[in-house]
Amino acid sequence: MLDALFRPKSVAIIGASTKELSIGNRIIKNLIDFGFKGPVYPINPKASDIRGVKAYPSIFDVPGPIDLAHMVIASKFVPAAVEDCGKKGIKAIIINSAGFTEVGPEGAALQKDFLERAAKYGIRILGPNCQGIINTDPEVRAYCNFTFTKPDPGFISIVAQSGGVGELIHQGFSQMGIGTRIYASNGNASDVSITEILDYLGNDSGTRVIVLYLESLKDPKAFLEVMQRVASQKIVLAMKAGRTAEGAKASSSHTGGLAKTDIAIELILQKLGILTFRDEGELCQAAAAFASQPIPSGNRVGIITNTGGPAVIATDVLVDEGMKIPTLSEASIQTLKGKLFPESAFENPVDVLATADAGHFRAAMDVMMAEDGIDCLYINFVTPFFVNNEAVAQQITEVNRQHKKPIVCNLMTDPKQWKDVVEILKTGGVPCYTFPGTAARALAALSRYAALRSKDIGKPKTFTDVDSGAVAAILEKAASDGKTLLSAADVYGILEAYRIPCAAWKIADTVADAEAAANAIGYPVVLKADSPSVVHKSDMGGVAVNLKDGKSVREAAETMVKRIGATDLRFFIQKFEGGGREVIVGAKAEPGLGHILLFGLGGIYVEILKDVSFRIAPITEIEAGEMIDSLKAAALLKGVRGQAGVDRPGIVDILLRVSQLVTDFPQIQEMDLNPVMAFADKAVAVDARMVL
Ligand code: ADP
Ligand code: MG
Repeated sequence: MLDALFRPKSVAIIGASTKELSIGNRIIKNLIDFGFKGPVYPINPKASDIRGVKAYPSIFDVPGPIDLAHMVIASKFVPAAVEDCGKKGIKAIIINSAGFTEVGPEGAALQKDFLERAAKYGIRILGPNCQGIINTDPEVRAYCNFTFTKPDPGFISIVAQSGGVGELIHQGFSQMGIGTRIYASNGNASDVSITEILDYLGNDSGTRVIVLYLESLKDPKAFLEVMQRVASQKIVLAMKAGRTAEGAKASSSHTGGLAKTDIAIELILQKLGILTFRDEGELCQAAAAFASQPIPSGNRVGIITNTGGPAVIATDVLVDEGMKIPTLSEASIQTLKGKLFPESAFENPVDVLATADAGHFRAAMDVMMAEDGIDCLYINFVTPFFVNNEAVAQQITEVNRQHKKPIVCNLMTDPKQWKDVVEILKTGGVPCYTFPGTAARALAALSRYAALRSKDIGKPKTFTDVDSGAVAAILEKAASDGKTLLSAADVYGILEAYRIPCAAWKIADTVADAEAAANAIGYPVVLKADSPSVVHKSDMGGVAVNLKDGKSVREAAETMVKRIGATDLRFFIQKFEGGGREVIVGAKAEPGLGHILLFGLGGIYVEILKDVSFRIAPITEIEAGEMIDSLKAAALLKGVRGQAGVDRPGIVDILLRVSQLVTDFPQIQEMDLNPVMAFADKAVAVDARMVL
């Protein structure tokens, strides 16, 4: 339990300072200004008091128990201070100081030292090299942090792997007038992990929305497991930075953690059904809507506006974001005709006109709330001087309190002149924005979330017609022979054991045997070089396709012997499967996670177009289908201009079987079937590679 960290009953500041512009001073001020509910104990050997609070020479002089300690002392003193905390019975420590893993081996040794001591006493550590936590719960009021933004209580909790971004998000909410609940950024994450914090927030009754900023994950599997639960308890909105190679580099240099490949995190978030954002502003604005609004049951928006142009902009953005703006039912239109000005627009958007008063707005909102074909409401509200705008705001608030369908409001006003209007909407929990596009995107995020959460990807299916014993035998033999790149016989043996369709094949040691094998398979055939020294066969002249008779096989084999000249060269003879579309199915082990599957256009297109999709294994049938459909070239595979589409069930079957294979045999580091030849009625692998 992290209660000592997030709900401390008392806090000591080890390294409390009398200098006002220091962290050891600022934290004391923040705790007091924020109204911390428990005692604050500045620890300083010389001062008698700091910021008017009695100071103690050491933690052992503090009369009562201490839950949480801040450490704001030079890194070399931290291990001994942690030991003292253990003796005092302190349960959690926020190490604000830097100078650990992020500075090199010496710092890493200090970190190891303090962690061992903390473990001995069961102390939990946040940081080092971090800001700390904030909890606005009226029973706690803990501002264990040296930053300056003082949040109002709210329902959004923030977890950030970067204190800088955490603070940025924090300030964003503050500027929007949106309250927050718990804040945490854990710096080097030496002990308490992002995953544990999220786990804690999942159980925090005051948290409705979790805003998560991620750069890397130390233990992706644990994250996946914990978040499966948390994402069903809370609305989780995430942003993953370090998308570009350059960005990833920047992130690894400042967290002192290991920057892992980024694709995996995006896939994990996707697998969890967590809504992700690419823009931190958009994330905060959406969070503001999530904090107060119900989740819509669909994507159909009703627009009410008292000004024309902004409704046009909103409509464009909403449609771009995948929302629908349906025409209202005839009954609704008739109702509106009886209640609005005759010059109003009655369909959707409903333009109540600038002269509309509270009654007009209310009539339009009531119609939208009752209309079955509308899932959510977008309101443009400009505040003309000739209208009782406070009354309009009051009506919007009242409808909002019904909590029936989500509402966002693009409020076009001067917040000084119309401060009552702003205040009424704010206390009424109506998310207000200053641009139509911003409001529209926030509303669209609610609907995207609804779609994500209602999606059921099913369960991975287990094929029972596979021969895992045969695969285990092949892999064990290969491992004991010290092989990492498997031979063709091994690879195709494995594929056959898992009933992954591949073109008929044989292996031959001599030219004469190759011809005999070709005769047995039936023409046309393909002849390939099979040798551990030949990885990309066609680059080395190791592939001869569409050989129509024994003579061509012989000649091709002799040429290959001359050209490649490897002493261990064998021949791989395969049925020629011409005229299919080439796709790739691959899998790669991801440390600490399992395998990532890949699907894309095969052959040379893989490298050129990079049109590929990924999922974490094991995948379900629905996910396999999504892998195919999410390609840019998906339409090509479906068939264009009279050309038949490819065998989708066949490809799905291969994806699922490969998924099961790598899940059953985690020692497979990498495998790819490139290409799989996809025809209208079948899909067969014609080249396969496997690395242990
Ligand atoms: P590598 O990838 O090692 O160069 P491949 O076995 O993939 O070798 O062969 C290269 C290309 O030859 C394939 O991308 C495909 O276009 C073609 N090819 C290989 N085997 C067959 C086959 N059995 N039927 C039809 N075309 C094939
Ligand atoms: Mg190939």
